[in-house]
Amino acid sequence: IPIERIRNFSIIAHVDHGKSTLADRLLETTGAIKTNSENKQVLDKLQVERERGITVKAQSASLLYNYGGEEYLLNLIDTPGHVDFSNEVSRSLSACQGVILLVDANDGVQAQTVANFYLAFGKDLIIIPVLNKIDLKNADPDRVSKQLETLFDIDPTTVLKISAKLGLGINEVLQAIVTRLPPPPADRNLPFKALLFDSWYDRYRGVLSLIYIQDGQINVGDNISYHHTKKNYEVKTLSILRPQEESLSNLVAGQIGLVCCNMRSSSEAHIGDTLYRTGISVTPFSSFKPVRPMVFAGIYPLDQSQHINLRSAIEKLALNDSAVTISVETSPALGQGWRLGFLGLLHLEVFTQRLQQEYDAESILTAPSVTYKMKLKETKQTLKSGTELYVSNPVHFPDPLLVEEYYEPMVLGTIITPDRYLGAVMSLCLEKRGVQKSGTNIDNERVMLQFDLPLSEIVIDFHDTLKTISSGYASFDYEPIGFISTYLVKLEILLNGVAVDELSSIVHSSRAEIIARRMVARLKDIIPRQMIQIAIQAKVNGKILARETLKAYRKDVTAKLYGGDITRRMKLLAQQAAGKKRMKTVANISLPRETFIDVLRK
Ligand code: GDP
Ligand code: MG
Repeated sequence: IPIERIRNFSIIAHVDHGKSTLADRLLETTGAIKTNSENKQVLDKLQVERERGITVKAQSASLLYNYGGEEYLLNLIDTPGHVDFSNEVSRSLSACQGVILLVDANDGVQAQTVANFYLAFGKDLIIIPVLNKIDLKNADPDRVSKQLETLFDIDPTTVLKISAKLGLGINEVLQAIVTRLPPPPADRNLPFKALLFDSWYDRYRGVLSLIYIQDGQINVGDNISYHHTKKNYEVKTLSILRPQEESLSNLVAGQIGLVCCNMRSSSEAHIGDTLYRTGISVTPFSSFKPVRPMVFAGIYPLDQSQHINLRSAIEKLALNDSAVTISVETSPALGQGWRLGFLGLLHLEVFTQRLQQEYDAESILTAPSVTYKMKLKETKQTLKSGTELYVSNPVHFPDPLLVEEYYEPMVLGTIITPDRYLGAVMSLCLEKRGVQKSGTNIDNERVMLQFDLPLSEIVIDFHDTLKTISSGYASFDYEPIGFISTYLVKLEILLNGVAVDELSSIVHSSRAEIIARRMVARLKDIIPRQMIQIAIQAKVNGKILARETLKAYRKDVTAKLYGGDITRRMKLLAQQAAGKKRMKTVANISLPRETFIDVLRK
């Protein structure tokens, strides 16, 4: 197929607006899969297979479509769809000339629609606005068209109206792809050059790279190089995804295809990398920044005998996710575990959810924390001033005397809410140290708010709280905007004067007192009384901010039962003995593991 008859596009949408359903209809209409009412989210089914470690991952697909008597090749390129993966979204979009911006005609524009729109818009892509679910009784396509006009200046006459579920308007979408998008700027006469925009691990074939061929061509048996690692490989197989793999002996510029070259480790396949023929180097696609994990959480098996099982589950998942970082961590109370680094909250959620599927014993996930940056003063230790330090674990918090300036990661949060919840949403954002950037009425009952927010304030329960205060109607999305200068302190918890490392945290200095009081009160509630009195204190920079005393108490579980049933008495004693076995001695005080789990868990 000549380059003039190739179109590369992606579908972007807020979650549940119908992206998978539309993809199914596009596959059916172009004959890639049989029309069948059983075709429910075909691409998603493959995704599930992939999660189980089977070969296919065909969220991208090459479709053949006949228009005006000629055959067109339409490449549907899937994007991770969330700004946590903005690097990857952005790379996938680099292979496209346009996007379908899909919006639910009932729900209207939501926070993720806005974030996605700007990603595509910033890349100068042609946007085909499509309203879905027009079959719904409450669908109001005119109102949603107006929202698109107000927010993005989209001409209402260019908006398509479809029902992906019922298959209405699908041909109009395909025609718009052919007529509104240009062919890719590819050149088959230049040396081979391809963009790696997705990769995954296959148990039998090793790492597979999904590439967009910008120039030239590639054949089975060719020697190719990956720019980032400068490593060379021989091409074993090539295929296109329709969406099932279809083997070919060569791929040419303009095509999307899958390369298998016996690569053993997913760390050799960097999303955004450039591939070229060994010895014939080309100008690489603009260099990409390696991503730095921003959200961290500790993970421990509930029972140390499960250590090996949990480790193998984590390792298996990490094979398919090169963005997650793993380091071993040992906690006196929780035992051996790992500290995992993620790109963002959604990344953490996706990973831990899959971990639950892979590993069917309970594990302890600690509350997430973020990475802070610190600029150190000129001292004997640091040698020169301006040394930067990234700290995500309170244990590594430096002596405040050495720090010249603290920085914390910020995000630009977008919230779309019905205006009746405006007051509640605003106070939530302000309470989370948000700074309002904009407020726009997107129609007569909905508002879009943008706030700069510290990442640390949204990692724990922001999204849930937002949903609760808006009865589920507000939507939220965010994008990282870098670090800003801030004031941080290390909050330490002391039991009878001894600091307990795993209960310490890094907090904004304005919040230290509130958090200190809350922590201390909570600990008083959950630490069981002991033979000795326990002072629970919270300390910042040598100053005690909060204190509670847990009175000594001789715990005799049978005291109130004397004269009672003997078997009941034996059972209680046995329970107490088992409880004692699980105790850990921290700061000379016996604490049940459950106490730590309770405090550290989100
Ligand atoms: P995604 O999260 O964007 O991939 O959304 P899905 O394709 O999974 O669709 C989310 C839900 O909306 C599913 O229950 C679909 O059956 C439903 N849905 C998708 N398109 C339509 C449509 O045109 N009309 C109606 N009524 N429901 C739809
Ligand atoms: Mg989907």
